[in-house]
Amino acid sequence: MKISSDRCPWCGEKFDRKTKPKFDKTNGIELGRGLGWCRNCGNWYRYKPTAAMFLVFVLLFIGGVMLKAAPTAGIIIIIICIIISLLAVHKLPKEKYPAGGQSSVHDLPSCKVNVDWDKKYFMLNYRVWSGYIFPVCFVDENDTPKSNVWCAKFDVSKRRKNNMSALMCFLREDAPREKLFKENNRFVVFYDKEIIGQGTITAEKI
Ligand SMILES: [Zn+2]
Repeated sequence: MKISSDRCPWCGEKFDRKTKPKFDKTNGIELGRGLGWCRNCGNWYRYKPTAAMFLVFVLLFIGGVMLKAAPTAGIIIIIICIIISLLAVHKLPKEKYPAGGQSSVHDLPSCKVNVDWDKKYFMLNYRVWSGYIFPVCFVDENDTPKSNVWCAKFDVSKRRKNNMSALMCFLREDAPREKLFKENNRFVVFYDKEIIGQGTITAEKI
């Protein structure tokens, strides 16, 4: 299973190019500025810079410098960078892009969680990047759902084998944060309607 960052950081809806936009915005995507807008809620988001992006820039720079001394090697490095960028663009987490002159949009309050990823998905723990959004559902001790499904954002703080410590926050203001963010509460994490991980809240407040 491919894991990509495919949900809107505002409303949590899955990006779907086939759906007809509910909004009339001319420039659907501004890749040059790393911006796009959600066809469901109309809000703008931006691609979040990651260490991987930085690495590509460093490689591009090296490729550029090498162009003079060793043109073939330089061109190969630059082509590799372009291929990596095209392949990885859907992996980049998206974050809310502020409107009205604000510099950033604050997240809703987070809690600390521990997530055990399903071992049947290869190296899943390392394919989930900081800023990824997944639907979660809280469950009781018998694994029976006890909440609606809400979209939550995960910011990774530590990875261990198949397990991750992270900060988790809901995207939507109307999610019952006070009720659900309680220590030892358990939840399951979905991707493409499949359960890919089981989480526990380790601290209500950070
Ligand atoms: Zn949206």
